[in-house]
Amino acid sequence: MTPDDLAFDQRHIWHPYTSMSQPLPVYPVVAAAGCELQLADGRMLVDGMSSWWAAIHGYNHPRLNQAMKRQIDSMSHVMFGGITHPPAIELCRKLVAITPAPLECVFLADSGSVAVEVAMKMALQYWHARGEPRQRFLTFRNGYHGDTFGAMSVCDPDNSMHSLWQGYLPEHLFAPAPQCGFGDEWNEMDIVPFARLMAAHREEIAAVILEPVVQGAGGMRFYHPEWLRRLRRMCDREGILLIADEIATGFGRTGKLFACDHADISPDIMCLGKALTGGTMTLSATLATRHVAETISNGEAGCFMHGPTFMGNPLACAVASESLALLLEGDWPQQVQAIEHQLREGLLPLTANENVADVRVLGAIGVVETRRPVDMAALQRFFVEQGVWIRPFGRLIYLMPPYIISPEQLDKLIVAVAQAVKNPEFFR
Ligand code: PMP
Repeated sequence: MTPDDLAFDQRHIWHPYTSMSQPLPVYPVVAAAGCELQLADGRMLVDGMSSWWAAIHGYNHPRLNQAMKRQIDSMSHVMFGGITHPPAIELCRKLVAITPAPLECVFLADSGSVAVEVAMKMALQYWHARGEPRQRFLTFRNGYHGDTFGAMSVCDPDNSMHSLWQGYLPEHLFAPAPQCGFGDEWNEMDIVPFARLMAAHREEIAAVILEPVVQGAGGMRFYHPEWLRRLRRMCDREGILLIADEIATGFGRTGKLFACDHADISPDIMCLGKALTGGTMTLSATLATRHVAETISNGEAGCFMHGPTFMGNPLACAVASESLALLLEGDWPQQVQAIEHQLREGLLPLTANENVADVRVLGAIGVVETRRPVDMAALQRFFVEQGVWIRPFGRLIYLMPPYIISPEQLDKLIVAVAQAVKNPEFFR
């Protein structure tokens, strides 16, 4: 990679949430293996991000690579309309088997955001088919569900700048984010504003949509699982659908296979993505109960109105199947537990630091919330100099490493975070 390549990138290529006129620096990565990323200049960085929750088995895994190579040799893609294929059937069998029991109808799509669009559309079509159209969703503040318009309409209104899309974005109902933390004693009062909002709009609400237990990109907050039990009961009482967006939490990240398992509840619709393919390819799945699927199918449209070009992409399905096999035959519960233990030992003492507002750990997720926003460019440079890849945002420095990370590698990440929070120059 030449300086000219980087100049081209800076001039012509948009990166996530980045200015085109004043782009933040990007680091050229040319290879990745296990828990390490290799920079173009040969330096190796220990990865603390799993490429945004996805690479749970680490990079360049021989079994995932083999699954893709095998599939390429038979077919990379074929349309899903009127056609089916073994990789989709094998994957969907596995998804139906491991998700909570009533979820049994699988819609495969291309990305997490589209899985959320599909879930929301299912809820709208469900009510339309019942002859009682409903068009509003009820959710929490501080949520994040993706960047497409439907998904964005249920993201935190401030974080996702709803003001920019005023008049275009549908206006949904936002309850205050849960205050009762994961390990806290349950506080009955926490749920009152949510319950009031639901009661006031009971006839309009198509579904409640939420990220179970962990609110990810909207603030990295962990809330009490009792919330889920209560919401399940409230939704049942009112006949409102419950959509669980497990795109970030699914596949073991929080210490349970799915975050809904912390409360032993099953949603009516569940969205999966990110770690579904072990971080190799983009693929998502939206699962619904038979009741939801049949209600939609018996409605005016006679079918579910969605069908993307790359639906059920065989290459992505094949590698997702292999990733699930790896996960289920491996010892992820012990790995995640060991990571949790080490994150607690290493990060919780940082609470004493004056730059730190809060530290929280759940499963293989460690979060240090700082008092002031981080200087992203300076802090990113520091982390790279320390030989680690950690991507902070806002007032959050967080770690969510691949499950296969070694104690030494994790220690390197923790030490880098501990060094960073000591330096006031990294905060604005
Ligand atoms: N839902 C949640 C909970 C997420 O964390 C994300 C991605 N950060 C999405 C949806 C959107 O997924 P994608 O970026 O694949 O569209």
